[in-house]
Formats: sequence, C-alpha cells, structure tokens
Amino acid sequence: MTHRTNTRPVRVGNLTIGGSNQLYIQSMTTTKTDDVEATVEQIHRLEEAGCQIVRVAVPDERAAKAIPDIKKRIHIPLVADIHFDYRLALLAMDGGIDKIRINPGNIGRREKVEAVVNRAKKGGIPIRIGVNAGSLEKRILEKYGYPTADGMVESALHHIKILEDLDFHDIIVSLKASNVPLAIEAYEKAAMAFDYPLHLGITESGTLFAGTVKSAAGLGAILSKGIGNTLRISLSADPVEEVKVARELLKSFGLASNAATLISCPTCGRIEIDLIKIANEVEEYIQSIKAPIKVAVLGCAVNGPGEAREADIGIAGARGEGLLFRKGKIVRKVPEEIMVDELKKEIDLLAEEYLQK
Ligand code: SF4
Repeated sequence: MTHRTNTRPVRVGNLTIGGSNQLYIQSMTTTKTDDVEATVEQIHRLEEAGCQIVRVAVPDERAAKAIPDIKKRIHIPLVADIHFDYRLALLAMDGGIDKIRINPGNIGRREKVEAVVNRAKKGGIPIRIGVNAGSLEKRILEKYGYPTADGMVESALHHIKILEDLDFHDIIVSLKASNVPLAIEAYEKAAMAFDYPLHLGITESGTLFAGTVKSAAGLGAILSKGIGNTLRISLSADPVEEVKVARELLKSFGLASNAATLISCPTCGRIEIDLIKIANEVEEYIQSIKAPIKVAVLGCAVNGPGEAREADIGIAGARGEGLLFRKGKIVRKVPEEIMVDELKKEIDLLAEEYLQK
C-alpha cells in the first residue's frame, strides 16, 4: 500500500500535494461562481478558517469566465469542478485555474480529451479524477451489480489510463462514497493500485452534526492507515464548518502542524468552575493560534492537571480561583475573574515561543 508520504508529488498553484508534504484542507464554495463578490467573500472566510485549497463549481460559461476575477483576489489555489464539457475546462485553464476536477473518460471524443490534456500540460495544471460511487460508469455497474470498491478503483484506473496514454501524470484521485465502509475499502484498494495522491472525502455525509460524525468515522479510519493527501469534509452547512471539522480531525492524528488543540474534562460532581462556558471560550480563542500547542481546561484540581499531563498549558478550577499548570505541574494561582484572560496571555506566550523555534 502506498503511504501518503510516498505518493507522487503534484504541484497545485503554490502548493505541492503528495510526497512528504503536509495533508491539505480543501473546501468548496456554495455561492454561484459567477457572483464574484459573494464567491470571493466566502473564500476569504474559508482562508481565515484554515482552508488551503478551494474548489468552485463551473457549470457554465459565465462561471468559467468569472475565474480570472476570483483568482486575482484570493490567496489559495483555486480548483474548477467541471462535468463533461471540455470547453469549460479549456476556459477555466485559460482563466488561470490551478487544478481542474474532470473525469477524462466522460469528456467524449478523443480530440476533446487531447485538447484538455494538452492545455493542462502546457499550463502545468493537474487534473483530479473524481470517482463517485453514485455515478459509476454503466459498464462497471453491470459488471459488479452495484457500486463496489473494486468497481470504483476500476473506474479510477480507466480514467488514469486515458491520461497516462497521453503522457500526463499530474493526477490526483478521489473515490468518494456516502457509505462509510465502502469509502474506506475503496481508498485502501486505491492506495494499493497506484501512487497518485489521494483526495479524501465522504460525500453527501449530511448535516453539521451527523455529517461530522460520519466523516470523522470514515476519514479517521482512512487517515489512520496513512492514506490521504488532501481532505474535504462535505457538510450541508456553511463551508467554514467543513474547514473547522477538517482541522479538528487532522489534529486528532497529529497531522495539523499549525493548530492548537483543546483538552477539556467532561465535568463531574467535583467541578468548581463554569467549565463548559470557559472551554467554549478557549476553543474559540485558539482557532487563530498557529502553533501546535495543547491547552487544557479542567473542572477541578483533584485529578485535573495529572489527567492532562500531555497538555502544554492549562487551567484547573478551584474554589474562587484557577490553578495554572504547565505539563501537569501547577505553577501559580489566579483569581477566578481573570482566569481566562490569564490563560489567554499564557497561550500567546507559548505560541510565540513555538513560532520562534
Ligand atoms: Fe471531574 Fe475534576 Fe476530572 Fe473534571 S477534572 S472530570 S471536574 S475530577
């Protein structure tokens, strides 16, 4: 099986996906792409949340023609999502797109495929093959009877071969399914079949709550096997939420080098402070911290600091005060009223120390 760090590096704008590079967070806009103002505004919010690559739908010429204006005003690589229409792919590439998502087997006549591939080669623009369990080719469905992992990988290999036969190798592949076990199996089999970088996703996973759980279950299993070079959480929600969930998921696997993590206790009868409120406030605060520090917020000092030994810094509630601790050891007491502010100051100091290293 090809581990994520052994995949073929593929350049996308100013980033390189695959190889020893970090796993990047992607999202997709929900605005009409030809509404440049709304699209740029949403991309800026996504960037701020930590999105590193963004995709826009390009269903028509108006959307394709908006690409140069969008591109000029954003700071992360832009991907065009195109189905079937090779002219839209050419327009997007002429407009400065950094990557296109199109399945070459769906473009049609050979000369159309060649036109897209030649333009992509000329511009150094990679192509993502997006296999989706819900839209497998008829012949594959007839062969397997229903969407299977083998069928999905066969579909990916079919599209890959079209590109490889034209000596094109800047390929990224996704094999999305809304069925979690199917997606896990498909990504595993894909990682055994080829070494192109894999873009991960559990498609149509649902609303913010259900979709987060489902995505974490599926993508967590895939990530734990060392698979995946980019990732998108698909939610029926504001895409900023997708980025937040993706960051949290990557943090759980130690794959986010630029984000702080919160450890907070579930509370119990020993609680001495309004922990849930404080934990939410601290969580909000550390969203903007760009260092991999662990911050703990605990209800009491009985087991607290010891329970959170791996935390870099934290606060444990005590009657009328908070006990500030580092690496499981209490360093000083702070009055309850200024407890959170003091913790924030310590977080800033620690983050600065990390960033200066
Ligand atoms: Fe209970 Fe204290 Fe542990 Fe929180 S840290 S769960 S309040 S014992």
